[in-house]
Amino acid sequence: MPADTDQPVCRLLHLLWRMEGRRHRFGPRARCARCGEHRVLALSWVRGQIVCARCWTGRAVEWHHVHGRDRDPWLVAPVPTNWHRIISALTPAGAAPACPRTFLAVARCGG
Ligand SMILES: [Zn+2]
Repeated sequence: MPADTDQPVCRLLHLLWRMEGRRHRFGPRARCARCGEHRVLALSWVRGQIVCARCWTGRAVEWHHVHGRDRDPWLVAPVPTNWHRIISALTPAGAAPACPRTFLAVARCGG
């Protein structure tokens, strides 16, 4: 992500653009074929099915690097796997962590 798009509002717009692309790719009412998860940032195509990260990996929880792996490889927190995908989409590699307001805005619009 270029430095000039590292501002919270630019990051949010970029994320909304990504979400719309996924909605277009998965369809308007896409859900995980196994559990019904509907947040598009947690969904992927796996062997011809739409599946969420939790069902795909079989992990309920993943470790999230709070300040980014590059900035602090030791500070981690357990996060539900599907939320981890959404949080990670807000924090591209090398970028500063997303502020809580950006995170809440994405959560409100259905991540
Ligand atoms: Zn699922």
